[in-house]
Amino acid sequence: MKTLQQIRRELHQIPETGFHEYKTQAYLLKELHTLNKQRLTIVEWKTGIIVHVKGLNPTKIIGWRADMDGLPIKELTSLPFQSTHHGYMHACGHDIHMTVALGLLRQINEIPINDSMVFLFQPAEEGPGGALPMREWIKEQHPELLPDLILAFHIAPEYPVGTVATRPGLLFANTSELFIDLHGVEGHAAYPHQTKDMTIAAASLLLQLQTIVSRSINPLDSAVVTIGKMTSGTVQNIISGHARLEGTIRTMNAQTMTSVKQRIEAFCQATEVAFECQVKVDYGSSYYQVFNTPKITKEFLNFAKDDKSTVSIECDPAMTGEDFGYFLQEIPGLLFWAGVDSPSGLHNAKLSPDEKVIEYLVPFVESYIRSL
Ligand SMILES: [Zn+2]
Ligand SMILES: [Zn+2]
Repeated sequence: MKTLQQIRRELHQIPETGFHEYKTQAYLLKELHTLNKQRLTIVEWKTGIIVHVKGLNPTKIIGWRADMDGLPIKELTSLPFQSTHHGYMHACGHDIHMTVALGLLRQINEIPINDSMVFLFQPAEEGPGGALPMREWIKEQHPELLPDLILAFHIAPEYPVGTVATRPGLLFANTSELFIDLHGVEGHAAYPHQTKDMTIAAASLLLQLQTIVSRSINPLDSAVVTIGKMTSGTVQNIISGHARLEGTIRTMNAQTMTSVKQRIEAFCQATEVAFECQVKVDYGSSYYQVFNTPKITKEFLNFAKDDKSTVSIECDPAMTGEDFGYFLQEIPGLLFWAGVDSPSGLHNAKLSPDEKVIEYLVPFVESYIRSL
């Protein structure tokens, strides 16, 4: 049987992006098929896998979710087991997430608990989002596999190994991508009256969007509207007929996300009228907030506090997004951070999580799950 370290390193070498996790899925399936299958049911969904481990005397199903995808980032670590997929990297630690899930699955399969468990190997966390369609598919096709309680963790570069951090209630923000295309009429630089200039329209819209947070959102609430990229035109002496704004929206509560989007759409409609153009808005991947069930999270933090090998922290919420929120939207549970002590952060080409987190976390989570 492969060691968990070996599994992590082999997964690290084959990062794949959302819904393209073909090799990753095949690798995990191969590992799962080496296990004693007396208690196991293995179901494939797109590039993901759902594994049911039958309990001894089940009264509920405990879910454990691990995301599977990597990122389109060129790895810049000097690790001997670097990504072999040029231009792609497990820069968000999902290789570690899958390895911990496999380790936990092995343990629970070997020494079963009373309750049943469902392991969700979920594709496409980084985009376009696998949690929501996976949840809906399970509800429709395999309601018997739907967990009653759902748990997950994410690696945290800023904490040492042995530290877990979470908080009751909101942990991660509501997030949405934002793509706005403005279509006007291109033309000669010296004949502006015969054109509809989309550079001017986009510049005006950009500034208006910046008033949403400052003028429309309650200052005691929190939101971010960032346009990170703005493109327009082709060359210096042609008036631009097409411009594009690309950005992201973050809010601390779900209702604020709706309000921000309404304001964006109002400004886009106003731009259409004012600049005689067509404006199309696309929100790309939108993720619902990660809201930890307060009671379960307090009990988890107490469990962690009593564990001698663990330092537990009640942390602040973050403006980052996680599609695990779609599971928590309908199923009680929690997500926690687990320290991996890396000077480079998430989505950084030099991220290098300390692998010791695997041997620490598997028994920690196993004993937590046995306590439930
Ligand atoms: Zn990520
Ligand atoms: Zn991640």
